[in-house]
Amino acid sequence: MQKPTATQIDTESRQGYIGRFAPSPTGPLHFGSLLAALASFLDARANQGKWLMRVEDLDPPREPAGSAELILQQLQDLGMDWDDEVLYQSSRLDAYEEVMDQLQEKGLCYPCDCTRPQIREMGLVYNGSCRERGAPPETPYALRLKTDALEIGFDDEIQGHFAQQLESEVGDFVIRRKDELFAYQLAVVVDDEFQNITHVVRGWDLLDSTPRQIYLQRALNYQEMSYAHIPIIVDEKGQKLSKQSFAPSIETDRASQAIYKALTFLGQAPPTEIEKESPKSQLQWAIGSWESQWVAKVGNLPL
Ligand code: GLU
Repeated sequence: MQKPTATQIDTESRQGYIGRFAPSPTGPLHFGSLLAALASFLDARANQGKWLMRVEDLDPPREPAGSAELILQQLQDLGMDWDDEVLYQSSRLDAYEEVMDQLQEKGLCYPCDCTRPQIREMGLVYNGSCRERGAPPETPYALRLKTDALEIGFDDEIQGHFAQQLESEVGDFVIRRKDELFAYQLAVVVDDEFQNITHVVRGWDLLDSTPRQIYLQRALNYQEMSYAHIPIIVDEKGQKLSKQSFAPSIETDRASQAIYKALTFLGQAPPTEIEKESPKSQLQWAIGSWESQWVAKVGNLPL
C-alpha cells in the first residue's frame, strides 16, 4: 500500500500546507542548516504550500549580533523566498508567559532547583524529585512540566513510527530555564500553533523532542501536525555540523554548488546538467521532482 502523501493529512480546520524553517541564529547558515532549510522549502512548495520563517532567538548569550540577518540574506541569495513576515521569538515573550500561566493553572508545572550533577546522577531522566515540594525555592529555579506514563507515538513521514513514554524515557522537562529564558520545547509548540503550521520538516536530532511537543500540544488543546525528520550531516568525528564544530558558512558565490550538493544529500539525484544553473532554476527543478521518500532513512549522514 502506498504511504499517504503529506497533503492527505490536512486537518479540517487547517486548509492546505503551511511549513516553516526555524533557525536559531547562533551563526551563519552552514551546510547542515541549509539541508533543513532546503528540505522544508521543497516539501512546502511541492505541495503548493506556504513556507514561513521563524527566527528562534530565545537565547541571546548564544547569538552573535547580526546572525539572524545573515541567515535571512543567505537564504535569499540561495533563491529561497519565504511567505509572510519573519516571526522573531524574541517578540513573543508575552505569549509564552501566558501559556506558562495556563499550564500552571492546570497544575501541570512545578519549580525545580536541581543541579546538573544531580540530574546526571539520576541517569539524565529527571526523576520528579521536586514534584511534591511546597513553596518555590529562594534561589533561581526552572519550571518543569509533569509528564505521564502514556506512550506518545507518531508516524514520521521519513523515519516511520516513533514513540516514547515520556515519564520513564525523558522525565518531566523544563519549559522555563533557571536563567528565566523560555525553553525551546515550549516556544516551538506555542509558535507552531500561532503560525498555523501543518507540516514540520527538520533535522533528525529533533526526532526525540517530538513526543514532548505533541504532549504539550495535547495539554494545550492545540492542533497536531505532520512531521518529517531528515538526516543530519556529521563531520569526520561523527559530530553534527554546527557552529560549535566550526562548520563553514555557505558562500553566496558558491550558491549553485551548495544547492546541488544539498539536493544530492537529500537523495533527489539532481541531473548534472543543472549543476551550474542559477539557484532559482535549480530550485525550480527540485520543486518539480521533490520526493520526500527518497530522503535517506538514517540519522547521520557523513559529509
Ligand atoms: N531552532 C532549532 C534549530 O535551529 C530548530 C527548531 C525546529 O525546527 O523545531 O535547531
